[in-house]
This record gives sequence, structure tokens and C-alpha cells, in this order.
Amino acid sequence: MGRFTLKCLKCGTEYGEQYRLSCKNDDSLLRADYYEKKLELRARPGIGRFHSWLPIREELTTEAGPITYKSEALARELGLSNLYIGFSGYWPEQGAFIKTCSFKELEAHPTMQLLKETGGKAIVLASAGNTGRAFAHVSALTGTDVYIVVPESGIPKLWLPEEPTDSVHLIRMAPGNDYTDAINLAGRLAKLPGMVPEGGARNVARREGMGTVMLDAAVTIGKMPDHYFQAVGSGTGGISAWEASLRLQADGRFGLKLPKLQLTQNLPFAPMYRAWEAGRREIIPELDMPDAKQQIAETYATVLTNRAPPYAVNGGLYDALADTDGIMYGVTKEDALEAKKLFESLEGIDILPPSAVGAASLLKAVEAGNVAKDDVILLNIAGGGFERLKEDLTPIPITPVATAENPDVPLEDLIS
Ligand SMILES: *Cc1c(COP(=O)(O)O)cnc(C)c1O
Ligand SMILES: [Zn+2]
Repeated sequence: MGRFTLKCLKCGTEYGEQYRLSCKNDDSLLRADYYEKKLELRARPGIGRFHSWLPIREELTTEAGPITYKSEALARELGLSNLYIGFSGYWPEQGAFIKTCSFKELEAHPTMQLLKETGGKAIVLASAGNTGRAFAHVSALTGTDVYIVVPESGIPKLWLPEEPTDSVHLIRMAPGNDYTDAINLAGRLAKLPGMVPEGGARNVARREGMGTVMLDAAVTIGKMPDHYFQAVGSGTGGISAWEASLRLQADGRFGLKLPKLQLTQNLPFAPMYRAWEAGRREIIPELDMPDAKQQIAETYATVLTNRAPPYAVNGGLYDALADTDGIMYGVTKEDALEAKKLFESLEGIDILPPSAVGAASLLKAVEAGNVAKDDVILLNIAGGGFERLKEDLTPIPITPVATAENPDVPLEDLIS
């Protein structure tokens, strides 16, 4: 008995249960249609609780999962009465046990499980740092091979809470290459026999994993929030939150109104913010990210610098924003640093740079009147607790197995 069928959002073609990233007829995103229409929580410690809406057969047993709590100090500071924090990271005092410290681990567990269940042997992905760390961790736990391509700026983010294993293959890109160069090289590697591409936003397991932040919030609060705040680079987290809320809406027990997506990019690199502000479905590089490499080099939260986000694609971020009457913000490094200090001192946990960007947008939204005092707000702190983690264990750096000078290097030089 199956659990779901994959369906194309454009032409409706159904593919059953597969590890599949695209439709044979068009370039639309696929979406999982689950046979369980009501969310039925499983007695699992982490993300496995949300098995109803994960595209895998075996229930995940990891203790890594999203948590949601009601803010007191930051809420008081901002004059909000229903501010909830979704926290993905390490914070044992709050029951948060994501040892790679970001919600990327929520995608890595179901993706690697689906890969295993569908007979895949090795997965290839590009990462600005956080995704690579999450997949390396799951690889170290399960022994499944991962090939991770990371630009130089991401290398310090590639550490593990345990000894790296031979199944983790880290490929470093020389300085001068950015995250999008890493995506291009990973795309070539993924075409080699035996390799499966991770697929980014096209990967349904990835989206469902990230979507559990919204599910956890809805079951904790008792209803869907009115607003969802997150910093975005690819926007996959925003798409995932939207899709999760569509399922909650259909479930019927968590309210009917979709949360308004309030998403943020980190200036100066903010192509989706600029396109959305201009009312465009298309990102026009000359207008929305002129001098992209320079802008990326100047951006504080490098994890948010994706030059090819799934924005225009059918079922992508533009559709998610349009369907939820969404808002986008652009915040500066200074805004983010200020919000980081405020959040950390009031809430008592350290947060990663992209989460500081997300927190800064909440301050802006309050100022602009884009939320009302009593609205139910979910702030997705998608990464944090790294300083807290270091009190309990020593992160171990992953050593690259090869360096690529550019995205077009011969592949034999990189894998052995
Ligand atoms: C990846 C990441 C983001 C951006 O996620 P999207 O894929 O753009 O939704 C935000 N915060 C953290 C901590 C991340 O690791
Ligand atoms: Zn199709």
C-alpha cells in the first residue's frame, strides 16, 4: 500500500512513489499527494512525528526536528501578543536537537531515506554551507554516499558533530566561484552513472522536510499562524511553508486562512525581493542582480545568495507569494546585526546570519504596520544554537577530497 503519488502541478501527470525531480512534459514542480489527508502525529521524537506528510515509508527516528515556542521577551519588546518562534537548531533546554544547527537537516533526513527506499546509491548536491553540513551528517549516520560541492566561502561551515566517514565526499571550489558555480558543477557530477541529483526545490522530500516547521507551529499553536517570516535565498522554505499550509487548510482543523508569507533577502543581493517589488514573475538579471558576483561578495548572509532561485517556475516562490498575498523585504547587514543582538539577548540563544536577516524583517514589518499587535506570527529561526552546541561538543571540520578551479573542470579529477 503506497503512501502518496507525485503529481505535476501543471499537466496533472501522476508518477506514483518515486525519487523524481521533474515532469516529462514541462518544467513545473511536482507535488506529493498523500493518501493521509489528516495530519496524524506519530510517537517519534523529531521530524518523524510528521510522517503523515513525509514521502517515505519508514518512520524517521532521529531526534532532530523543528520546535515552536511562544516568545515573551522579544514579543514584549515589539509589542506583540502572539509571537511564536519556530527554531531549527541546537537548544536542548527547549527540546531542539538539530546538531547541524539549521533546518537543512530537516530536508536531509527524508531525502536520504527516500533515496534509500527507491534504490539510489549516491546523492550529489551543491551547497553554500548549511545544506552540505546537514547531508554530510546524515551520510555519516547512514553510510549513504554524498558528494557535496561547496564554494570557498562555505568551507568553514562544513563541520560535523561526529567523525566524518568515507561516505562524505566534499569538493571545494577555488576562490572566485560562488554558490551558483557550485550548482553548475554539481549538475555535471550528478549526470555520472550511479549518481542522483539532490534537486533543490524540485526535491519533494526536501520541501516536505522544511514544511514541518509550519506543521509543528500549527499543532503547537492549535491553528495556522496569520504570518510566516523567513529569510530566503532559494525560497524553498517559503514554498514549503505554503504547501504545508495548503495541506493544513485541507485537513480543516487548523483554520482555513493561509499564512501570509513575509520573506526577506539580504541586501545588496536580493533578486527575488526586486522582482517581487516590481510585480514581475521573471527575474531579470540586469535589473534585479546587476553585478551579481560583486553583490554576493558584499552580502553578509552568504547562505542566501542563490542566482537561480525557483521563483518563476510553476508552483515556485512567485506562486506562493501571490497565493498568500505575500510581502518581501530587503534588509541590510546593519539591520541584521542589530536584530541579531536584540534577538540573542532577549531570547537567550545564538542565531545564524540568515536568521538574523529574518528577525530584522520582523522589526521592519512591525514598524511598517504589516502585522497587527494581536496577530499570530511565526518567525522561522531556521538556523541557530551553534555557540550553544560548542558548549557540549567539538565540531570536527570535514576535509575536502578535491578542489575545482571552475565549474567546467574534468570530472575525473574530482572523484576517485
Ligand atoms: C538555507 C537557509 C535559509 C534560506 O532557505 P531557503 O531555501 O531560501 O528557503 C535561511 N536560513 C537558514 C539558516 C538556512 O540554512
Ligand atoms: Zn507536467
